[in-house]
Amino acid sequence: MKLDFYMPARLITGENSVVRNAGLFALGKKCIIVTGKRSAKASGALDDVLSTLDSVGCEHVLFDKIGENPLISTCAEGGRLAAEFGAEFVVGIGGGSPLDAAKAVAAFAANDGIQPLELYNVSTLKPSLPLIGIPTTAGTGSEVNPYSVLTLDGAGKKKTFNSPHSYFKYAFVDPKYTRSLGREYTVSTALDAFCHCIESYLSPKSTDISRMFAAFGAGHIWRVLVEGELAEGEPDAGGFTYAQREALAYAATAGGVAINTTGTGFPHPLGYNLTLDRGTPHGKACAAFTGAYIKYNSRTPEGERLLSEFAHAIGASAGEIAEVIPKLAAVDLNLDDETIKRYVEKVKDASNYANSPYKISEEEMAEIYSELFGK
Ligand code: NAP
Ligand code: FE
Repeated sequence: MKLDFYMPARLITGENSVVRNAGLFALGKKCIIVTGKRSAKASGALDDVLSTLDSVGCEHVLFDKIGENPLISTCAEGGRLAAEFGAEFVVGIGGGSPLDAAKAVAAFAANDGIQPLELYNVSTLKPSLPLIGIPTTAGTGSEVNPYSVLTLDGAGKKKTFNSPHSYFKYAFVDPKYTRSLGREYTVSTALDAFCHCIESYLSPKSTDISRMFAAFGAGHIWRVLVEGELAEGEPDAGGFTYAQREALAYAATAGGVAINTTGTGFPHPLGYNLTLDRGTPHGKACAAFTGAYIKYNSRTPEGERLLSEFAHAIGASAGEIAEVIPKLAAVDLNLDDETIKRYVEKVKDASNYANSPYKISEEEMAEIYSELFGK
């Protein structure tokens, strides 16, 4: 068995894991907290962090300007604020957007004065400030990987910043923080995690260990979303029981560990256009392409083998997955030929296409958009 497994975040899970581990927040005398507008507060995570920081005598400044699909310019602004304040570490609280943004803020803070795009000259950067991450969605797995998916201002394009210094030192996964997330986003983020699992499982970079995490994550998501398991108990406002929230939270983290080894496949770049141009939430935007992903990869013996192994591991068939996952995403769009051409142009150079047994061509990218959403 050949392995190269590296995931240096210390992962601590379970209810009240933040307050139970207050001592780990003593990473310095001052920190910056990076969040979105509402979720950190609504989830209860911000209050837990504030009382924890108080208990260890750490001063903090709050930067709550992170929107969905974070702009690189906003992260640069956060970095400047962190540097001015003299923050010694960064606490990210939220969904994938604030967590990814926290990684960029930590890098900008340590490299004060660089232009936003210089963030991508990773080898020239000084190490980022240390990071603590607390997810409030069960989706991206950002807490256990170094990816920071940023939107380039004015370009309508996402570009991933990925530095060896972007891992969280500590990641706290407390499923209770996801209970305030409504149904639409809970389903979308779970679909994102499912996409991470299947796209990672088929990646040529996958290993026995990454596939184990991918199958674990996908199995839990399938059982909760599709088979309605763990439904005994009081549902929250989003319609999920605590046991379901727990299963989805750990599944998403498992998906994050899987893509930490492999990265993602073509549904991700194809989905970015739907998110940035049409406002489709990230998970749904990726899951819309799962059927196509299965169809094209089934054309190679290796793809077919891995798909049947993956499907078997979660107790389904590849055909069922191809049908059910896009249906759950329920993305309904009409795209004309000009738009499809523009979309392909924006994402055709992503590295994701080489990351599965079948490598789709530019013509096939257009074909996929057209078959799913053509007028
Ligand atoms: P998100 O963009 O972080 O948040 C979506 C929405 O949900 C926001 O309105 C947010 O509010 C709200 N929200 C989050 N948690 C909540 C809670 N507990 N209660 C109530 N509302 C809550 O969503 P996401 O799907 O987790 O992240 C998507 C981003 O992650 C995309 O930019 C995507 O490209 C990236 N991504 C990263 C990775 C990776 O590996 N690093 C993988 C996949 C995707 P606020 O605005 O108030 O926060
Ligand atoms: Fe994703």
